[in-house]
Amino acid sequence: MIAGLLLGATAANLASAVAPDADRLPSYITSISAQLDPRVGQTLSQLGGTGRQLLALRSYVRSASHLAERWSWTREQIEAYEGSTEQRELQQEIDRVRTAFVAANPGFELHVNPQVRSLDAQIEHWNSNNSVAAAAQQIFADAQTLVSSPNFPADRPDQAREALRTFLSRYRPVPTPTIAAPGLSLHGQMRAVDFQVHQRGRIVAGPSTTTIATDWLAAGWAQRLDAAVRAASTRFVGPQTIPAAPWHYTYVPAVVATDGQ
Ligand SMILES: [Zn+2]
Repeated sequence: MIAGLLLGATAANLASAVAPDADRLPSYITSISAQLDPRVGQTLSQLGGTGRQLLALRSYVRSASHLAERWSWTREQIEAYEGSTEQRELQQEIDRVRTAFVAANPGFELHVNPQVRSLDAQIEHWNSNNSVAAAAQQIFADAQTLVSSPNFPADRPDQAREALRTFLSRYRPVPTPTIAAPGLSLHGQMRAVDFQVHQRGRIVAGPSTTTIATDWLAAGWAQRLDAAVRAASTRFVGPQTIPAAPWHYTYVPAVVATDGQ
């Protein structure tokens, strides 16, 4: 009986010693997300692979204090936005920019996607974007190294969770993902606008990273868009520079411009 217990204990110790520590990453992810807004856990479960989850969790940890106010609108919130004063004001600002752009660049037009970017769309982008895939692979490898290191407090769950959380909050992804983690895109509350340049129904400069050097910089559309934005409106901040997105401007509505958020 005693021999049997000892044997059992030894086998259990052996099993835990042999099991790769990286297998614990999913349980660490669960315990870190359990301390955040419940929408984080719901979203993480829809992201493909531990690497993509770690990369998104990094963003959630870093913006933990702003998650609630920043989180993308639900279907009901999007419906409430349709036809609202805020939507009309944004449309007016966009129209001003378009008018200024067309006046300065005859024959060309400026388009924006008027749709709020839903959480589902952001999850889909996160699961298919190339920059996210590459950065996810790297953060997964780096997190594996961390939890496999002799100093990692794997046998103390609270300390292990905090060690991974600290690692995530300080981590700099390589490459920098070109999109925000699902739920955190400013497009999810219509606080960002992507402009694109068209000519006779054809896209001359569109929201794609691969076209920045040619269409936006060499052809001068980044500079011409920015000139029109500056001339026509004070409500757009940008364009985004990290990562570079010359088409992406943050929108600051008049009603919340004074509340310090
Ligand atoms: Zn954008």
